[in-house]
Amino acid sequence: MHSSVKTDFDIVIVGGGMIGVSMALAISSLNLRIAVIEKVRREHQSQPSFDDRSTALSRSSQSMFTALGVWDQIHDASMPIKSIHVSDQGRFGFSHITAEEQEVEALGYVVINRVLGDVLLGNAKKKSNIHFFCPAEITSVESQEDYCNVKFKSQDSKNSISSQLLIAADGANSDIRDFLGIGMKQINYDQVAIIGNLLTEKPIASRAFERFLESGSIALLPINKGRAAFIWIIPTKDAENLMSAPENIFLSAIQEVFGLRLGIFSSLGERVSYPLALTEAQRLYSRRSVIIGNAANSLHPVAAQGFNLGLRDVATLADCIYKETLKNKTDLGNSNLLFEYSEWRQHDHKKLKFFTDGLVRLFGSQRKSVRILRNAGMMYFDLIPGFRKLFIKHTMGLTGRLPSLSRGIAFK
Ligand SMILES: Cc1cc2nc3c(=O)[nH]c(=O)nc-3n(C[C@H](O)[C@H](O)[C@H](O)COP(=O)(O)OP(=O)(O)OC[C@H]3O[C@@H](n4cnc5c(N)ncnc54)[C@H](O)[C@@H]3O)c2cc1C
Repeated sequence: MHSSVKTDFDIVIVGGGMIGVSMALAISSLNLRIAVIEKVRREHQSQPSFDDRSTALSRSSQSMFTALGVWDQIHDASMPIKSIHVSDQGRFGFSHITAEEQEVEALGYVVINRVLGDVLLGNAKKKSNIHFFCPAEITSVESQEDYCNVKFKSQDSKNSISSQLLIAADGANSDIRDFLGIGMKQINYDQVAIIGNLLTEKPIASRAFERFLESGSIALLPINKGRAAFIWIIPTKDAENLMSAPENIFLSAIQEVFGLRLGIFSSLGERVSYPLALTEAQRLYSRRSVIIGNAANSLHPVAAQGFNLGLRDVATLADCIYKETLKNKTDLGNSNLLFEYSEWRQHDHKKLKFFTDGLVRLFGSQRKSVRILRNAGMMYFDLIPGFRKLFIKHTMGLTGRLPSLSRGIAFK
């Protein structure tokens, strides 16, 4: 690659979580020198990305991991979703979406974040052109006309590295976003997600369940050893009691909202809670720097789309970088590239924010007009033209103009 700018690395990625490591892998075949700076070690209990949550991967995410050559490993560690059962507590009717009806092998796959971390980091660490700095604490970010400079403390030394492009993948509370002076908007949902796993009396098999509640929702997803992962979204005021409730009390509470469709629940695993907010960066780039994943948008998990959306950021940015590397004279931090990435992502971001936020509001709403709609028994879902189709398309990550990696096409 012929670059007019001399830097320590071509690209520096801050944040080596689910999205940052995926980004490094996505561009690792492009003969670039890549640095990943991560605050918390993978093995550490407090690692916030590769934790005990389960992630439902969409079709477009599966295609991307296939193009990156890591899908077989993820597939072996995940459970397929062959059908999704959507219902609304206390109301008749439900909707049932099947892989068969969509003519696909699976609607998505469920993988535990820690396990996904093993696969992604395991592969990234084998690449000689990806250099990890971890644990590391960023102390300053400087963006100049020709290069970016990041200073950080790592072990006992102080480091300073320059690059053509800085990618911020440091999550919803992004420090880099602040260093770059990019503002953000936040809507606090006053809700908490309690996650964990349990045993169901009737096998969950390859089925996913989403049940909207009077004040939140509950999702059950298939994971290994016949267990089910749950994501129970509740008002913040109820979280403390439920988190500290003894196992039998918690199990009867969750049973009560989910019902007996899967028989009696037992054998509760560890519970962890996450406060929920919609965080939205006011722009996606600044001089020689760009933001992706949760640093750009952090969504309510009701539709299980945050990581899938972030992966499409990765695939899109990788496409823009790939095109630049084909030129005779490259500059990976040039403003045209950053603008193209930003423009390309607007539509998908807006649509998913509207969709997930809309679901939260529709089901959380006490307004009479909305209640009439809900009382008709999932009427919104099957009868409102296009709504069901839209839900399926979002679930599979197949909306809008998809970049090459999201279509399963690897860079040559
Ligand atoms: C309960 C719950 C369930 C979810 N389920 C799904 C699902 O089923 N499907 C789905 O698609 N999405 C799901 N999501 C969303 C998904 O978890 C996020 O979109 C995803 O974790 C975003 O990854 P990220 O790498 O951008 O950010 P994060 O996961 O937050 O990772 C950020 C990384 O940056 C590091 N970091 C932070 N600050 C710094 C710094 N200053 N310097 C260096 N490193 C730093 C952190 O240590 C971390 O490793 C869910 C979210 C929640 C809360």
